[in-house]
Amino acid sequence: MSLDDTSPAGRAGFDELVPSRYAVRVGDIDVMVISDGVLTPPAESMATNADPAIRGAWLDKRFLAHDAFDWPLNAVVVRNGGRTILIDSGIGEEYPDFPRAGQFGHRLKAAGVDLASVTDVVLTHMHFDHVGGLLVDGVKDQLRPDLRIHVAAAEAEFWETPDFSRTGMPPALAELARRASLQFLDEYRNQLRTFGEESEVAPGIVVTRTGGHTPGHSVVRLASGGDRLMFGGDAIFPVSFEHPEWHNGFEHDPEEATRVRLRLMRELAETGSWLVSTHLPFPSVSRVAADGDLFRWVPAWWDY
Ligand SMILES: [Zn+2]
Repeated sequence: MSLDDTSPAGRAGFDELVPSRYAVRVGDIDVMVISDGVLTPPAESMATNADPAIRGAWLDKRFLAHDAFDWPLNAVVVRNGGRTILIDSGIGEEYPDFPRAGQFGHRLKAAGVDLASVTDVVLTHMHFDHVGGLLVDGVKDQLRPDLRIHVAAAEAEFWETPDFSRTGMPPALAELARRASLQFLDEYRNQLRTFGEESEVAPGIVVTRTGGHTPGHSVVRLASGGDRLMFGGDAIFPVSFEHPEWHNGFEHDPEEATRVRLRLMRELAETGSWLVSTHLPFPSVSRVAADGDLFRWVPAWWDY
């Protein structure tokens, strides 16, 4: 059985085997998760500090390959009170090493969201799999000139002279990340609305810097009518619930990223807030339960 979508970007006439969008409501706020596809980094990058035998056993228990890790890539559209807010934008179309990703643009269109209707973009951070969708040819021309792009000031500053010394990224990937962030800053600098620690993007929609993964990495918390949902960006990965101590190869400060991950998972377990996250299996709508000192990922049952 294969559910691989290996057709190239554009995909005219291509029938998708599975749905690529999933909508939920958080009080009055409409949230739609859209899959950008799947990345396939080396499985080792999911746990750079793990004993290879323990990492291998974890993968085996889940019937996962030891080489490439199927790493989902999700972005979100939030709509409320006349505002249309994108949280991240997928990887775009520049990365031939990841042919199964880069689908956010056409899937956004298929979901009936016109780029011209987008009032705000919130970036969890400026890695290429989060800003790449904004760098696709022709996208900027369709966006409104008064578009606001919310990102932590520490993030914009970091990418002026980024430091990869503590990541496990191969040099070629680090170079891609450097190039994408510089291109992003170059093209969108005038649209940036930077914040220090926290900013209310719209009523009930708050972005908060966590640091760790990158210095300006941020999460977005939605709250309305007693409902809560957190978009966790790159703070929480599929391996994190059982192994929060596993460093991810894309983390610029792995120890701090681990502290952030633990803090957020404890918060989610205590509050019962919904979680949606970039690299959890689509649609990633889930809750986090405490399980002794560790955690359990509890995906939502699809609401048909
Ligand atoms: Zn990412």
